[in-house]
Amino acid sequence: MYVSDSIQINEKGHLTIGNADTVELAKAYGTPLIAYDKDKIRENCKKFVSSLNEFYGNGRVLYAGKAFSCKEICRLVMEEGLGLDIVSGGELYTALSVGFPMEKAVFHGNNKTDKEITEALHCKVGRFVIDNIEELHTLNKFAKKYNVKQGVLLRIKPGIDAHTHDFVKTGQIDSKFGFALETGEALEAVRECLSFENIELCGIHCHIGSQIFDFGPFKLAVEVMLSFMGKIRDTFGITLKELNLGGGFGIKYSESDSPEDFSEYMKAISETLRKKAAQIDYPLPFVYIEPGRAIVGAECVTLYTVGSVKTIPDIRTYVSIDGGMGDNPRYILYQSKYEVVCANKASLPRTRIVTIAGRCCESGDLIQEHTRLQEVEAGDIVAVLSTGAYNYSMASNYNRYPRPAVLAISGGTAKVIIKRETYENIIENDI
Ligand SMILES: *Cc1c(COP(=O)(O)O)cnc(C)c1O
Repeated sequence: MYVSDSIQINEKGHLTIGNADTVELAKAYGTPLIAYDKDKIRENCKKFVSSLNEFYGNGRVLYAGKAFSCKEICRLVMEEGLGLDIVSGGELYTALSVGFPMEKAVFHGNNKTDKEITEALHCKVGRFVIDNIEELHTLNKFAKKYNVKQGVLLRIKPGIDAHTHDFVKTGQIDSKFGFALETGEALEAVRECLSFENIELCGIHCHIGSQIFDFGPFKLAVEVMLSFMGKIRDTFGITLKELNLGGGFGIKYSESDSPEDFSEYMKAISETLRKKAAQIDYPLPFVYIEPGRAIVGAECVTLYTVGSVKTIPDIRTYVSIDGGMGDNPRYILYQSKYEVVCANKASLPRTRIVTIAGRCCESGDLIQEHTRLQEVEAGDIVAVLSTGAYNYSMASNYNRYPRPAVLAISGGTAKVIIKRETYENIIENDI
């Protein structure tokens, strides 16, 4: 109802996720608590895969693990036949631990260490996405040492700024990721790449931003990238076969967000791919897309217990909860929008305007300001919606608060997929 059909209200007036009563979940597992609708995540995986197949046919969906990575999500993604976009040795290790087929993994990162490069080579990761020239040299050195030829994509800055609805074609040279097109840096990187014996240049990659609703920037990226592939062909006489278009599909955080169905995205992108390829007489490339947020973001709630309600007359009301920036740093980082609902009073109207305050020793530790909420008091359960992406994956132990437990709900039944941290966990690496 509020943001996703995962979220409903039952006959008791309680908020549910995946048909599980969130008030009961909070009682059984304690708070703060993160609950995912696993069935809905699976459905999202299927939708991405089927729309890529239906509208384009030749490609692979990679789940961007940085949105939320753990063993269970790797298993689910594996079952659904998706590949993985991995950005660190830790994410790689997580995927390996469940037997993920590493040939379907793509290894990103703007400063991969020697250790990570070695680990990725040893497990035969499908593609490296090369960010810079130093990485090319290092990768070639290690690939030579282990006697392999590693397939790579080059990360390109296509010069598209898609952070707002008004996209412009400038400004993106100033990004820490990848090779710039405008300066000729990208073409030089291709030249260099082709000179390395233990590296096989398979294609190019771009990722233009996140939480994008408008198809315009995505279509423009397709045109820019295919043109560049044409230029590579004209310059070096090679026809690259792979094009990775990154992720960034927007989801519903607040009632005013209205993302289009991803099948519409695939349809639009496929048309642009066909048109541009025909125009420059280029064979249709194998296309990767890398959704993260759009697979897990909206299918999750974080549950907290209200500790106090503090009204400062004529200023604002603070509702203090038993979590905060430790489990959700997105508000303090980006002032991200969220819908907040009192889980045990979900059928009542949200008549108060309040600020949800975390419990960290930091004035900026807020989850939402001036947001609508039911009349609440100490002991009520507050649910923050759409917390599935970049929440737990960005969580910290600031103030030495243990990280919350994470549940996966399937067929209305909950299962713990990440245990709640304990005080022992907090000190376990202390000497
Ligand atoms: C973050 C990222 C993604 C996923 O972005 P979403 O907005 O979560 O879809 C995909 N590819 C790359 C390279 C990224 O950095």
